[in-house]
Amino acid sequence: MTLDQGTTSSRAILFNKKGQIVSKKQIEFKQYYPNPGWVEHDPEEIWFSQKSALEQVINNIDAKQIVAIAITNQRETTFIWDRTTGEPIYPAIVWQCRRTAGYCEKLKARGLESYINSTTGLTIDAYFSATKIRWILDNVDGAREKARGGRLCFGTADSWLLWKLTGGKVHATDYSNASRTMIYDINKFCWDDRLLEEFDIPKSILPEVLDTSGLFGMAEIKGRQIPIMAMVGDQQAALFGQTCFEPGEIKNTYGTGCFLLCNTGKQKKTSRTGLLSTIAWRIKDEICYAMEGSVFNAGSAIQWLRDEMNLINKASDCDTEAGKVKDSGGVYFVPAFTGLGAPYWDMHTRGTMFGITRGTSKQHIVRAVLDSIAFQSKDIIEAMKSDLDLPLKSIYADGGACACNTIMQFQADILGIQVYRPKNIESTALGGAFMAGLASSFWVDKESLRDVRETDKIFYPEIEDDMRTKLYSKWQKSIECAMLWKD
Ligand code: ADP
Repeated sequence: MTLDQGTTSSRAILFNKKGQIVSKKQIEFKQYYPNPGWVEHDPEEIWFSQKSALEQVINNIDAKQIVAIAITNQRETTFIWDRTTGEPIYPAIVWQCRRTAGYCEKLKARGLESYINSTTGLTIDAYFSATKIRWILDNVDGAREKARGGRLCFGTADSWLLWKLTGGKVHATDYSNASRTMIYDINKFCWDDRLLEEFDIPKSILPEVLDTSGLFGMAEIKGRQIPIMAMVGDQQAALFGQTCFEPGEIKNTYGTGCFLLCNTGKQKKTSRTGLLSTIAWRIKDEICYAMEGSVFNAGSAIQWLRDEMNLINKASDCDTEAGKVKDSGGVYFVPAFTGLGAPYWDMHTRGTMFGITRGTSKQHIVRAVLDSIAFQSKDIIEAMKSDLDLPLKSIYADGGACACNTIMQFQADILGIQVYRPKNIESTALGGAFMAGLASSFWVDKESLRDVRETDKIFYPEIEDDMRTKLYSKWQKSIECAMLWKD
């Protein structure tokens, strides 16, 4: 059973040996926006929603049937609670929260970027836990003294749930989650003293870092003790759930934005294009790294077509509409609603459209929006290729927008490689289950999981090389032109 603690909901999903979903419950919880740019969650609401999802799933079955529990979670979100009372001292500061952005600018101005990048694999950003921890210790009355006295615990959602499930017995996290805090040395596998000093974070508040797949503790459920056998950050879990076990294998989650992770194996690889290096997992003392890049706006552009432009009624209409034309008719759309991420890193560019003629139809525009999702993903994959010098083997798609055949086909066309879409697009939860299942011998070995993960459809490239080059160079030109316009 995977407990998938996401940004907007907590879910419990029970899988069988074939990797099929036996039972599933999802409970949403409230988002708090106390100030512009701030995002918080209530740790108790997170726990109750997770507990209630879990209980609803096991209500229907005999708890004996649950071999193991896995926790997959929204990453970076920062929880701090009292070790003695178990009570949170402040709401959880969510990964999206920008309250420490100004402080991050100061860190950059002081020239800390290269140290932080080489030590943690990350770039300085309010997104990661370190500056959120510092903010809580600075702003909650008496927090730093309590922390110094060893009376507080820090953790991401995985640690918080583990603490709750084990009745306050275990304070731990896994390597994938530790690598998102911006205080963890991903080369030497330890909390980094210089960074702890920089952020004034006492070591005593930090969780123990354990193998991603292995025993974390026992949860008492319906009077039975069930082992928690895996904890893993959601994106890394999806990489595992997509069976991207070999260096060069990439998963792309097509959601509101896109999250691309490439397995880079036992070596940490450093990007020259601003992509992140991160720990994918550590299993039986063996480390696996990944390179990560994200597209800010992907499915959100489809929502924009639906909600603002009224060109479609529902997200799935985009396939039908785009299917009425053979291509975008020379229209290129750059969805830089919030600037451009990797590899361009320009926060001031805004969205635009090129190549419109008197003959441009609604369908051409819909198609151009879909194409832009594949083009942006290719931009990141090209950056990964140049950073990694790895042969690109395949890409594995998941997330809500992977239901769209037009995007999937154009992704294969523009990359010139096959794109796999799984039957079960819940890759994160499945990845967690795989890890817990391996640690408890429910599944025999990693290789056997490739059969468990069933493919719905493989998309093969259908265009010629010169056409691919022509389309992609036009896209690059449209990015270049878009970047001339600054907000
Ligand atoms: P997130 O986890 O970021 O909320 P999801 O993985 O749930 O995202 O995917 C939601 C996104 O997928 C939405 O932006 C929506 O526009 C898009 N989407 C959902 N169904 C389809 C579809 N059939 N065709 C194209 N896009 C879709």
